[in-house]
Amino acid sequence: MAHDECIFCQIAEGEISADVIHEDEHVVAFRDINPQAPTHVLIIPREHVASVDDLEEDHAELVGRLFLAAGAIARDEGLDDGGYRLVVNTGAGAGQSVFHIHLHLLGGRAMKWPPG
Ligand code: 5GP
Ligand code: ZN
Repeated sequence: MAHDECIFCQIAEGEISADVIHEDEHVVAFRDINPQAPTHVLIIPREHVASVDDLEEDHAELVGRLFLAAGAIARDEGLDDGGYRLVVNTGAGAGQSVFHIHLHLLGGRAMKWPPG
C-alpha cells in the first residue's frame, strides 16, 4: 500500500527521482542524498511500513528480503572485505526522519563503536 505523502513510496514508484541501484518486486535500493560514508545506500520494501515498531508477523519475509538485498548490494559495492554497517533508526528520538522502514548500508570507511 503506497502512501501519497511518503517520499520513499514515491521513490519506489518512480515519482521522485533517486539514484536507484537495485530494484525487484519487493525491494528498492538507492543512494542516500546526504551520504554519511563513501557508500551509503538505503534499502526499502515497496510495501509501506512506517518503522520497526510497526512490524507484524506477516512482515517476516519482507524483513528477510531487506537483509538479503543488503548483503547482495554490499558484495556488489565491494564492501564485504572491509566490512560495513547496517543501521535502522527507529523513532524520532533515535534519528528516524523518514517513516518508511529502511536499512542504511554504510561502508567504505572505518566505523566507530558505540555509534552516536
Ligand atoms: P532516517 O533519518 O529516517 O534514518 O534516514 C532517512 C535518510 O533518507 C536520511 O539519511 C536522508 O539523507 C535520506 N533522504 C531523505 N530524503 C531523501 C531523498 O529525497 N532522496 C534520497 N536519496 N535520500 C533521502
Ligand atoms: Zn512509504
